[in-house]
Amino acid sequence: MSDFLPYAYLNGQFVPFSEAKISVATHALHYGTAALGGLRGLPNPANANEILLFRLEDHCQRLSRSAHYLGYELPMAQIKTTIIEWVQKNRPTVPFYIRPLVYTSGLGIAPRLHDVEKDFLIYGMPLGDYLSAEGVTCRISSWQRQCDRSFPLRGKLTTSYIVSALAKTEAVASGFDEAILLNTQGKVCEASGMNLFLVRDGQLITPSVDQDILEGITRRSVVELAQAAGVTVLERAVDRTELLIADEVFLTGTAARIVPVRRIETYTLPAQRPLTRQLQQQLQTIVTGRDPNYRHWLDIVPIA
Ligand code: PMP
Repeated sequence: MSDFLPYAYLNGQFVPFSEAKISVATHALHYGTAALGGLRGLPNPANANEILLFRLEDHCQRLSRSAHYLGYELPMAQIKTTIIEWVQKNRPTVPFYIRPLVYTSGLGIAPRLHDVEKDFLIYGMPLGDYLSAEGVTCRISSWQRQCDRSFPLRGKLTTSYIVSALAKTEAVASGFDEAILLNTQGKVCEASGMNLFLVRDGQLITPSVDQDILEGITRRSVVELAQAAGVTVLERAVDRTELLIADEVFLTGTAARIVPVRRIETYTLPAQRPLTRQLQQQLQTIVTGRDPNYRHWLDIVPIA
């Protein structure tokens, strides 16, 4: 992608994106000792002088906790303030994606988290729809999601994305849009960069947080919305074969929001997806600032 928002944040300063450079010797580049965030914003359709950011504090909290795994104490409030300043500096005019990153910025060799400098950077880009809203086809990946014994999966650590990348490329190379990964117990975990839900007999089911998932912010939002609508939500282990007989399956994530799954391997899912559609519409109404009941999920940043 060549199109970026004009300013990045690096080494404690706002600099033009083209000048935001780091050394080839950067520790995190070699050892994957970094953690990322990813959140969306858009100009308020009702007031172009305001930017709406979805669940900013939740994203900042997750990044702060991810930094904690790296031995880097970066308070949530500091991340939040810096992101708001970054938005005000960039004054975006189209929907966009913010990418904050915490990383070991020192230049020394040897993987470690002590005695190495750390930094926090931000950049962003315009971002429209990520995957087809009409629904995607998925294969069950031959790659497994890592397990909590070997990886801090509640952090959004960059290193975990090698498995996402392997799974996504395998899926695309074999004619599918997306990958569904199982965990090391053989239970359904998530897609390459999205959480997974299924609907069976009117109940909404999603792998629980002890299933080696990333604790997605869209996932949590969907659970809350469904519960508020009176839908029974079950957070539990999910068997692979349940997916094949589900009434609806969908994926959730910041970039994609809610994406229906229309086929898994050779099993075509029903074309009618009432709950998926209801949740998609509700989330869209919320992120665009049109649902007063969920204004607390939005931070409104003035850019005038
Ligand atoms: N799982 C993985 C591996 C992800 O990268 C993402 C995207 N951040 C998600 C799930 C969904 O999380 P969220 O809804 O917070 O974007």
